[in-house]
Amino acid sequence: MRKVDAGTGDTGPAGSVRALDADDVSQALDLLEESRSNDGSESLDRAVDLEKAARALGNVELTLRARLVQADAIERQGHLAEATQIMWQVHDYAADHDRPRLLAGSHLGLSWAFRDIGDRASYLEHSVKAVDALDEGVPLTMRARYLMRLADALGESGSAEESRARYEQADRLAEEAGDVALRLRSLNNRAYGEYAAGDLDQAQETVGRLLEVSEQHAIPLLPQVWDTIGRLQLALGDHAAAVASARRALAENSHPATREITADAEFNLTLAAALRGLGDHDGAQEALDRCRETSELHGLRTWRALAEEEQSAIHAGRGDFESAFRSYKEFYALEKEMVSHEREAQARLQQAMFETSEARQEAARFQHESLRDPLTQLFNRRHVDQTLPGLIVDGRSRGLYVAAALIDLDHFKRVNDTFSHAVGDEVLVQVGALIDELADSIVLPASAFAARLGGEEFLLVVQAADRSGVVTLVEGLRRAVADHDWSRLTGNLPVTVSIGIATSRDDDTQSTLLSRADSLMYAAKHAGRNRSSVDQPG
Ligand code: GH3
Ligand code: MG
Ligand code: MG
Repeated sequence: MRKVDAGTGDTGPAGSVRALDADDVSQALDLLEESRSNDGSESLDRAVDLEKAARALGNVELTLRARLVQADAIERQGHLAEATQIMWQVHDYAADHDRPRLLAGSHLGLSWAFRDIGDRASYLEHSVKAVDALDEGVPLTMRARYLMRLADALGESGSAEESRARYEQADRLAEEAGDVALRLRSLNNRAYGEYAAGDLDQAQETVGRLLEVSEQHAIPLLPQVWDTIGRLQLALGDHAAAVASARRALAENSHPATREITADAEFNLTLAAALRGLGDHDGAQEALDRCRETSELHGLRTWRALAEEEQSAIHAGRGDFESAFRSYKEFYALEKEMVSHEREAQARLQQAMFETSEARQEAARFQHESLRDPLTQLFNRRHVDQTLPGLIVDGRSRGLYVAAALIDLDHFKRVNDTFSHAVGDEVLVQVGALIDELADSIVLPASAFAARLGGEEFLLVVQAADRSGVVTLVEGLRRAVADHDWSRLTGNLPVTVSIGIATSRDDDTQSTLLSRADSLMYAAKHAGRNRSSVDQPG
């Protein structure tokens, strides 16, 4: 894969963001989706730039993919509710518009969120749905990543067999795709899962395979792998080897480019337990102090609590049972606090989700009742009044313009008079559908919409960077109406539209823009109908 510097927008002028084409943006997003680095801030900046680029391209799919990467980064920075809202928004859009890749991505993101708050059932549910949503044609590595996620979730829920089968599949796909790094990650997670489930034989076997693969490809082991190995050695009673592995994990994790600061807490805890096993209580205490310090600095409740449990064991190893008991009580209290904190976080997240879905229903109801035209289901004039002024101002600040296309049916009175008002209504519904289809197909949902202003008059509003492209599309719409098969409704009587297209100028307001579109529409009528008339760029 070509490596794209997704950070172009950081340094270049505003124009250089837009210079990226859809392939560039997509590949840059691929990279961000694949690498889930510990600190989300860099991903966040890049994804924000990529969202801008995608918006400029009018590409909804890429825009929302960039939003998902942002949500993921925001989540890793601890803003769970905010991240979850974005994930649900993308999820809803993807479900409504049949976008499998976005749907899969939103489920994957939600699975992380639920894992963080300790809701295993939902974690598993979204991991399953994420894999389900994947299209046949997705790249092998992507499918492998999703399967690995599902395997993790199954393992953590106690379904060892099911989990193993998914790890196998992920491993095969990653191998087929030649993605060794992914294979190693998958094997490591599998081994750790087996270790945590108490299946030491399986864990050892998996580590053996992992070592084979890494040797075969001359790829150094990740620090996490050294820790897994150390844990395993510890469980098997080989304390000296465990000390060496834990030290190696810490050393491998000290490279500035790949350092995962919080992982140090975990590795130091392994080191402390291994040193204690060797009878080196001073060394164990030092390692434990580092674990405690990192845990406190970064709010790692799990490791902070486990550190106290290890502290109790060190005291006991020294024969100081009074201190051991004190530490144990401390561990117990921390763990209890952690559980209640988890519950709180869970309650908060559920509240946020509830509010979001409530808000969605509320908005949908409100939109339906007051912003839609009952006959065609298109937006109505009230929606135009609420939206258009903002789009004009917003477009100005982003270097985009707003095109207002006023569409009026030609000689519509004849349809009513020759056939019936009911037939006229049906013609309006079908013309409305053609306009709406166009609005849906060209730009972001926020920047293109179709409305029925009243009677047989429609409005298409497009916010875009490319003026001539919109003119071409609108002209295509005119032809689509004329070429539509109307015979069932109006026999030989043609149905055509006349269109006036005004594009926003610096000092335009909604009313100046619409009145220009109106004049242009009448000019098209006078010129013979069934045509569009465009103003000159201002
Ligand atoms: P032109 O090409 O000049 O626009 O001719 P026209 O006949 O389309 O224009 P005119 O403004 O004279 O007539 C518009 C007609 O549209 C009159 C009205 O009966 C009809 N109309 C307005 N609203 C509706 C509606 O909701 N349903 C139906 N069936 N007809 C409607
Ligand atoms: Mg009219
Ligand atoms: Mg008319």
